Amino acid sequence: MPYPRCQSEQMVKNGTTHNGKPKDLCKDCQYQFVENPESRRISDETQALIDQLLLERLSLAGIARVTGVSERWLQT
Ligand SMILES: [Zn+2]
Repeated sequence: MPYPRCQSEQMVKNGTTHNGKPKDLCKDCQYQFVENPESRRISDETQALIDQLLLERLSLAGIARVTGVSERWLQT
């Protein structure tokens, strides 16, 4: 998986954002970014499955369990 500015693998943990997401820092270019933003983590395939489950009137908690996405994400 390519990193935003360079292909460095010198990534270090750099605390968390104000909303608790882990931040990484590239030691080579000092670029900081949030690890695995949730909106990026959902594949088209998963999104299609979620749509299908919503049509089946499955609860958000159930969908979260089946698809592995967070219930909180589903509410947005
Ligand atoms: Zn870098």
